[in-house]
Amino acid sequence: MKILLMGPPGAGKGSQSAKLVKDYELTNISTGEMFREAARNNEPLGIEAMKYIDQGDLVSDEITNEIVRKRLLKPDAERCFLLDGYPRTVSQAQALDAMLLSMKSKLTAVINITVDKEAILERMVGRRVCKSCGLSYHLKFKPPKKEGVCDACGGELYQRVDDQPESVRNRLDIYERKTKPIVDYYAGHGILKNVNGMQTFENVYKDIKEALGEVK
Ligand code: ADP
Ligand code: ADP
Ligand code: ZN
Repeated sequence: MKILLMGPPGAGKGSQSAKLVKDYELTNISTGEMFREAARNNEPLGIEAMKYIDQGDLVSDEITNEIVRKRLLKPDAERCFLLDGYPRTVSQAQALDAMLLSMKSKLTAVINITVDKEAILERMVGRRVCKSCGLSYHLKFKPPKKEGVCDACGGELYQRVDDQPESVRNRLDIYERKTKPIVDYYAGHGILKNVNGMQTFENVYKDIKEALGEVK
C-alpha cells in the first residue's frame, strides 16, 4: 500500500496518519516532520529549511525532492508507505511520479481531506505539538490529559511558529495557488478519493479506511 494523504494545512493529515501507519503498518514519510526533526538536531538542512517554514513559505522543490528521494530508497519504504505533506507543488508531484517509476513502483491511492476555511484557522491556532515525538494536540478539540505534556511520551508541547496567524494566512494562500492544483493532477490519474474532514477524528478515520478498502 502506497498512500498519499493530502489536504490544506490543519486538515488533520498528521492526526490521521499517526493512526493509519499503526493500523496498516506503513512507513510514515512527512516532509514537514523531517524538516522539523532536522532542525531539532541542528542539522544545516533543518536550519536552512526553518527560515522558510517559520514564514509559512515552501522549502524549494529541489531540496524537498532530494530528501524524499533518499527516504524512499531506504528498505522500510520499499513495500508500504504513507506520504504526508509531499508533494505540495505540481512539479513535486511530477518528480515523485518519476522517482516511483524508476523504482518500478507507483501510488495506490491519494486521499484528499477537505475542510472549511474557518475551521482551518481555528484548528491551526489551537494546535500544540510534542517536541519529542511530533504528535499533535488541540487546546479545544484534543487536549492532552495533563496541560502542556504529551500523553504518548511525556514530551513538552509547544506552538509552532508557523501556526501564528501571519504565517497561517501565507500558508493558506500558498496552498490555494500551488498545492490545490495537485488535486486535479491526481484526479486525472483516477486515484483520488475525497474524504470529508469536517467530522470527528473517528469518523474521518472511518471514511479514510473505507476509501482505502475500495482501492485494495
Ligand atoms: P495537518 O497535519 O493536516 O496540518 P493536524 O493533524 O496537525 O493537521 O491537525 C491540525 C489541528 O486540528 C490539530 O490541533 C488537531 O488536533 C486538530 N484536528 C485534526 N483533526 C480534527 C478533527 N477531525 N476535529 C477537530 N480537530 C481536529
Ligand atoms: P501542515 O501539517 O500544517 O500541513 P507540514 O508539517 O506538512 O504542515 O509542513 C510544514 C511546513 O514545512 C510547510 O509550511 C513548508 O514550509 C514545509 N514543507 C513541508 N512539506 C513541504 C513540501 N513538500 N514542499 C515544500 N515545503 C514543505
Ligand atoms: Zn510526544
